[in-house]
Parts: sequence; C-alpha cells; structure tokens
Amino acid sequence: MMASAHPHRGNTVLVAGGSGFLGSSLCEALIADGKKVICVDNFQTSSHHNIEKLARRRDFTFVRHDICEPLPIEEPIHQIYNLACPASPPAYQADPVHTMMTSVVGTGNLLRLAERHGATFLQASTSEVYGDPLEHPQREDYWGHVNCTGPRACYDEGKRAAETLCFDALRAGNVDARVVRIFNTYGPRMQPDDGRIVSNLIVQALRHQPLTIYGNGEQTRSFCYVDDLVDGLMRLMNVTPNPGCPVNIGNPGEFTIMELADLVRSLVPTSSIIVHKPLPTDDPKRRCPDISRAREILDWQPTTPLAEGLLPTIRWFQECVEQGQLSRRA
Ligand code: NAD
Ligand code: UDP
Repeated sequence: MMASAHPHRGNTVLVAGGSGFLGSSLCEALIADGKKVICVDNFQTSSHHNIEKLARRRDFTFVRHDICEPLPIEEPIHQIYNLACPASPPAYQADPVHTMMTSVVGTGNLLRLAERHGATFLQASTSEVYGDPLEHPQREDYWGHVNCTGPRACYDEGKRAAETLCFDALRAGNVDARVVRIFNTYGPRMQPDDGRIVSNLIVQALRHQPLTIYGNGEQTRSFCYVDDLVDGLMRLMNVTPNPGCPVNIGNPGEFTIMELADLVRSLVPTSSIIVHKPLPTDDPKRRCPDISRAREILDWQPTTPLAEGLLPTIRWFQECVEQGQLSRRA
C-alpha cells in the first residue's frame, strides 16, 4: 500500500520538541503544507533562533513547557508529533533521570492528550533501541542488544519504554499511535556544540581545530539528510491504515567515522589534524537501517547523498562560527 500526498485530516498539529533540530524543520514543512502548528518545547537543547521566523506567523503558536508535566491544551488538535527528548549522547547523559522521564512520563502525557483529542500520534523513536546491534543491517523485527545499566540506558531504555506505551495505547484502541525509528540525521539547525559527530567534525574543521575521533574510527553510522527524514515522518503520520509496527527511517549508506572525517576535510578547507580520544562506554560498533518496510509501506527512500547534504550543513555551521554563536541556545 502506498502513501501519496499528505492528506488533511484536520488542520492543527502539535509538535513537541518543535524548536529542536528536527522539530523546527518539521514545523516549517507542516506550515508549508497548510497546517496550523502548536510548538511545545522547554528549550533544553535548542533555541528560539530555530523558530524565530515561524514565531511571527499567525498559524504558528509557541508554548514553553516541559512535557514531563501534563499539557492543558483545550484547542482541538488533530495530530501530535513527539520529538521532545535530547538526542545527543552528552546532552541526554547530562541529566539522565530527566531524559528517562521525558521519554516515559512525557510520552505518557502526550498520549493522554492525543486520546482526549482523538489525535493521531507519532513517536520519534530511535535506532538506539537496537543498542550495540548483533544483527546487521537492522530490521524492525530485531529486538536489539541494549545494556540497561550503562550510561546510554536513560535514552535507549526510555525510548524503548515509550514505544511500549505507544503500542499498548494502540492495542487498547485508545490512540492511533505510530512509531518511527530514526537513524542518525544531520543538517542545518543542529546546535554547533551539541556534541554529535557531524556537528563536532564540521565546527572543528571550520575552526582549524583537531578533529576528535573516538576510538579507532572504524565504527560505522548511516547519515540521513534532514529533509528526507521530515518527508518520512509526515508520510508515516498520514499513511492509512496505521501500519501498527515501528518503521525505520534513515539512509542505508554506511560510513566509518574515519570516512566521514575524510569527507569533511575534503569539503572544508582546513588545517585540522585528527586526534583520537577514548571510545565512550557502549558505543555501538555498526549501525545501518534496513528500510524495506519504509519503501513498501510509505513509498519512501532518501534522495540526498551524504556529500550533497553536507554542503548546506557546512554553510549553516559557517554562519554560526562567523556570528560567534558556538551555542545557539535560548
Ligand atoms: P534536539 O535536541 O535538537 O531536539 C529535541 C528538542 O526537544 C529540543 O528542542 C529540546 O529543547 C526539546 N526537549 C527535550 N526535552 C524536553 C522536555 N522534557 N519537554 C519539552 N521539550 C523538550 O534533537 P533532534 O536531533 O532534533 O531530535 C529530535 C527527536 O528525534 C528526539 O526525540 C530524538 O530522540 C529523535 N532522534 C533524533 C535523531 C537524530 O539523529 N537527530 C536520531 C534518532 C532519534
Ligand atoms: N564520535 C567521534 N567524535 C566525536 C563525536 C562522536 O568519534 O567528536 C563518534 C561516537 O563515538 C560514535 C559516532 O561518532 O561512534 C556517532 O556519534 P554521535 O554522538 O553523533 O551519535 P550516536 O550514533 O553515537 O548516538
């Protein structure tokens, strides 16, 4: 079954985490699609800069709120995207208990809101539910290999529990819930200092500082450009019937971290050398999505190769560096 355009089933969409890297791009795409957007965010890992232009519009409302607290929104809501959660390892490990609560209590609060409003619900899950995977590439029916006591667990296990809440709400017939498993995504509006590999390498190269490679750099990731990802999210939200299962969205092109560093050095004129630092605990060794399900159910596949998507991303970080904004937080 194929998803075609993004049909209008009512016009008001709530985006939790809507001022973040992915959330702000999603808000823009929804507005361009004729939706009225309510953006909910506590600015924990983002900034008002990302939604500055949208904030001047009448079809965009911003609510500063932590989703760990219930949301008393009475205006009718037709769709809810839950993207609220720190995504970078240093950010989600900074306050691990709050990260866990954001995924569990926060998702629970948003599911209750969806139930009250009869809204379709899309949960941003993650490839991290596969942990340090023993199967490769990762298909959705792989149950994963997660250390529930390690420093990444607050994120991985929180997201796994959030998936459970969604599928229980769906089975109970309470909420039309959908779950997307997002693989590493990059693009403009990432925070320059958020500690993820793409932002670190580009900012370091632009500043002629050493590129930090954790471990030997032979670990792999698969990098999806933000516009491809947002298209996948909107397709999953709007596809009928609800697939009733999680869907991987990511770019199956697999690169070692050293290959990514070499690519960045070929695109950014820099005198940066490479320095190796210790590999963080439980760092996944290989990660690559099997996207057969997204191709089949959503008629979706990424269209932006890494070398192409890095160009606007580098321009974004160049602007940040020129403006002296190593952090664009509020
Ligand atoms: P991001 O940090 O830029 O955005 C997350 C947003 O959520 C921020 O605006 C932050 O302030 C907000 N937030 C965090 N906790 C909150 C809370 N308790 N209440 C309200 N707002 C809160 O990260 P991103 O890359 O845009 O990721 C968005 C979502 O996608 C996250 O849920 C993340 O787990 C998921 N995801 C992202 C990637 C990726 O590569 N970017 C990969 C897998 C999954
Ligand atoms: N990494 C690195 N140097 C950095 C930041 C990250 O070598 O400055 C590595 C990290 O150890 C991991 C990969 O790059 O193997 C991707 O890290 P990121 O934090 O972007 O996301 P993850 O997929 O690990 O959540």
